[in-house]
This record gives sequence, C-alpha cells and structure tokens, in this order.
Amino acid sequence: MTDTQRAPLPMFVAGEWVLGSGPTIRTINPADGSYIADISTATKIEIDAAVASAKAAVRSAGWRQMKAHHRAAFLYRMSELIEQDSERLARVQMNDNGKTLAECRRQIASAAGTFRYYAAACETREGSLPARRSDAVAMAIAEPIGVVAAITPWNSPTTLEAQKLAPILAAGNAVVLKPSEVTPLMALEYARIGEKAGLPKGVLNVVVGTGAVGGVLVEHPDVNMVSFTGGSATGSKIAAACGALLKPVLLELGGKSPNIVFADADMRAALAGVSEGIFSGAGQSCVAGSRIFVEKSIYKEFVSSLVEIAKNYRIGLPHHETTQLGPLVNFEHRDKVAAYVELGRQEGGRVLVGGGIPTNPDLSHGAYFEPTLLEGLSPKARVCQEEIFGPVGVILPFESEDELIALANDSEFGLAAGLWTSDYKRAWRVGERLDAGTVWLNTYKDLSISTPFGGYKKSGLGQEKGLQGLDMYSRTKSLHWALDKPNLS
Ligand code: NAD
Repeated sequence: MTDTQRAPLPMFVAGEWVLGSGPTIRTINPADGSYIADISTATKIEIDAAVASAKAAVRSAGWRQMKAHHRAAFLYRMSELIEQDSERLARVQMNDNGKTLAECRRQIASAAGTFRYYAAACETREGSLPARRSDAVAMAIAEPIGVVAAITPWNSPTTLEAQKLAPILAAGNAVVLKPSEVTPLMALEYARIGEKAGLPKGVLNVVVGTGAVGGVLVEHPDVNMVSFTGGSATGSKIAAACGALLKPVLLELGGKSPNIVFADADMRAALAGVSEGIFSGAGQSCVAGSRIFVEKSIYKEFVSSLVEIAKNYRIGLPHHETTQLGPLVNFEHRDKVAAYVELGRQEGGRVLVGGGIPTNPDLSHGAYFEPTLLEGLSPKARVCQEEIFGPVGVILPFESEDELIALANDSEFGLAAGLWTSDYKRAWRVGERLDAGTVWLNTYKDLSISTPFGGYKKSGLGQEKGLQGLDMYSRTKSLHWALDKPNLS
C-alpha cells in the first residue's frame, strides 16, 4: 500500500472537496478484511461551513425559487449519471458493506429510478385551491423547509441515501448528508454525482463522522429539519433533541417483522418468501422477516423444508454471481449477531441450522455468519423481541388467527409484516389487524419508490417514498387574495 493510496478522502462541503479537521476513519472490505480507504471526518468547523452554505443556497432565488421543472432537470441528470456509472457504483457499495453484487446492482438501478421519480413528481406537483368561504380566493402551495440534515445507516446506503436526497432536493431544500461512519463511500459518490450534474454550490453537502458528528448537525440552529434512518435507540435521542428545539423530524427506525405462514399457503412461494425475507442482505435489513410464525398443522413439514433451504444457502464472496449470502458489515457486528444466537440458546432456544461462522477457508478473512434458525423460544424471549440485524430467524407456532394477531403485534416495533395464505378474505382481515406500516400479502420485501413507507410504534415517525415522501420535506403556505373589499369581520 502506498502513501498516496492511504491519503484520506475528502468530504464535500460548500461545493468544495475538503479534508475535515476530525480524526481519519478507515473502511475495510468485510468480504476479505482488505483495506479500502481512509476518510477524513468533520468537526464543528466543517459542519458550520456545510450548514452555512446550505442556508445560503436555500435562501438564494437560484435554488429555492427555481421553477420546478428546472430543478427536476438536475435530478434527471443525477439519475442518468447513476445509470451511466452503475457497475462501478454497485461495486463501491459491495466493497464497503459486503452486500452481494446482484443486490447492489438492483439497488443502484433503484436509486436511479428514485431520482427520476422525484424529478417527475416535482415538476408535475400542483398546489390546491380550497373551496371559497369569503370574498377572497385562497390557494395552498408547498414550500421548502430549508436546510435538512439527512443521517443514514450502513445497511443500504445506495437506496436509503437516494430516497432522502431526491425528495429533499425536489422539494427545493438544501441538504447536509451524514452517512454512517461504517459505510461513507456511497454518500461521497452522490456528492460527486451532484457536482457533475451541476447542482448549485451548497445545495448538497456530505460530512463524514461518527454519531457525535450527527449530534452536532441535529442541534445546529440553522438546520431546519432532521431526516434520520437508523436504530430506534438513536432515533429516540434525535427525536428528543429535535423536540427540545421544536424542529421537525422524520424517523425511519428498526424492526422485528413477523412473516406469517398459514396452512393454506402456496408452500413453495412461502418457503422462498420466508427464507429470502430473513436471509437476503444477510438479514441486515430493517424489514427482515425475523419472526417466522407457522400454523401448527403444517409446522413440522414447513420448518423441516425451511431448514433444508438454509442448509443449502450459498454463502460466499459477494462478487460471485452464485452467492446468496455475503458477509455481515464488519467483525464487530458479527460478534453481536453471534452473541444473540448464544443468548437464544441460553433462553431455551434450539438452533435448527447454522449458528456459527462458516468453516470454508476461502471465507476465513471475512465477517461471514451462517444462516440460522431457532425454535422452542418463548415469544417474550429477548431474541424474539430485539432486532438482531443478521441472518437469524426465530420460528414460532400458532393455532388460531386471534392468537396469531396477538403474538405478531406483541412487539415494540411495527415496520413491516408478511402474510402467506390462499384465502384472500383472511389476507385482508389479518392484514388490516397487523400493527405495521407495510404488509405484504403473498410476497415479501416488495418495495417501490412510489409507495409510502414508514413504521408504526418504535419503528418510526412519518413516511418516506411516494408523493408523501415529497410532502414530508415541504411546508404548506396558504395565500388569500381579496376579490372584493377586505373581509375583516
Ligand atoms: P445507528 O442508529 O447506530 O446509526 C445510524 C446513523 O446515525 C449513523 O450515521 C450514525 O453515525 C448516526 N448516529 C448515531 N448516534 C447519533 C446521534 N446521537 N445523533 C445523530 N446521529 C447519530 O444505526 P445503524 O447501526 O447504522 O443501522 C442499523 C439500524 O438502522 C437498524 O436498526 C435498522 O433497522 C435501521 N434501519 C431502518 C430503516 C427504515 O427504513 N426503517 C432502513 C434501514 C435501516
């Protein structure tokens, strides 16, 4: 490794690539432990500079009052730039967080689609003309909120950052993005893409750093809104800080989603949906179907087939086309996941498959963990209640619909749920009663930028995606125009 390679990467602040004044952090490829890059981090100095330039950008007529179709043109360009460089970008995320190349390619395509969707939404958005109740005509128009701080986690930077940046910019705001310190590379790529697309100076800033840097950003007096995706404990701290400052906050948080199989389900589809629901992305997904509920009459048969699938899951290097399960994001996280499996054993669970580190010598330098299924646990066990964020599912039997609903809703989370049945009336009935922001019927992890997404209970506050995702980053102003003499009664 040469010194040039080890020179830290700069951040993007006020339209310039700058070295931050904080300590350098290092990113390592979790597939093989190899060095990727050192990255400079921010302190208050760079945060102040980023927020000041964002504030200036959002106050200037150049961005805030730009006609929506002109603003949309920047987003269309960003979408094209993502598509043109898609293979390299997919590999940037793969190397940074260990997701399989196939998943990273899908996520890059989805990110390009996200910028296109919000470009179209922005230029076709209309205000409203409420019914007249006086001799004035009123109109309600959407305005930007101002400077938005976007804080993101490490599990899917490509999509999670796109689904913040695109609607924030489409709504006419400026943004300071702080990615996870574990996976900062994609955010730096977005800064480069924004720069290439010609975004005015200060409209998009990226500062790198740990949670402490995020905390400074949240409390900054010139940050008008915080949009956060990450763990519920962090979300709660951010909400408290925003509450004290009366600052709007959007929270997309953790989950412990139930994936439910009724005896009348199409078994092949359910087995595929349940196994992918927990093992895809190595279970590092906010919507992972980590609580698997199976109707008692088919429990034995379904579980033994699921165990077979898990045994044959292809764990491997993420760039291999055949790999289904890559590494976890780093060794520290793998230790956490392993500790949860050990806790599951102590809580009386039986490990049906997996539960350890793969023995394949090709994988010995990476942070791999086997696909794991546990049964025999109380629904109140910590492994059935807490988010593990790894390829670890707990399986629980149920007998009746009412019992199932009570068990499925017995969680502090409410992000998503899956339901497998051939009885459409039951699908509707149960789907309605589940406490979750997203319910999938005979499918799982079917996500789209045009559909609102958000959590119930401790899984979040507000919604991203869809047209609602644009509204979240807007304020409504009502304008009243007198048609006759002023109505001042
Ligand atoms: P995390 O909460 O540890 O960190 C998320 C981000 O917050 C990081 O950028 C981190 O540096 C920053 N941060 C930490 N403390 C902070 C503070 N006090 N103030 C401001 N910023 C702070 O989460 P993680 O481990 O990176 O990500 C995993 C979590 O994200 C899981 O719980 C997962 O379910 C959740 N997640 C949710 C969604 C969703 O859409 N609901 C999507 C993906 C991931």
